[in-house]
Amino acid sequence: MTTKRLSGGCQCGAVRFRAEIRPATAHICHCRMCQKAAGNYFMPLANVMKAKFQLTRGEIAWFASSDPVRRGFCSACGTPLIFETLSAST
Ligand SMILES: [Zn+2]
Ligand SMILES: [Zn+2]
Repeated sequence: MTTKRLSGGCQCGAVRFRAEIRPATAHICHCRMCQKAAGNYFMPLANVMKAKFQLTRGEIAWFASSDPVRRGFCSACGTPLIFETLSAST
């Protein structure tokens, strides 16, 4: 699967990251947990292998939104950043 290198971060700049996303996996999730995490109707997501995700500044704070998933955000400004499936190899 082709990948695309990009960098991103939170609104206040305390957390920055680099990642190789897989554009074919980009989607909008309307599940209830994503709605709550975004405070909106949906959350835009794309798949990144853990090995291809690299923090370049700051630390990610975590919230366990359900048993199999934790969501990473900036503890300074609250921007939702990533989510991680804890069980499987996704
Ligand atoms: Zn921030
Ligand atoms: Zn969702």
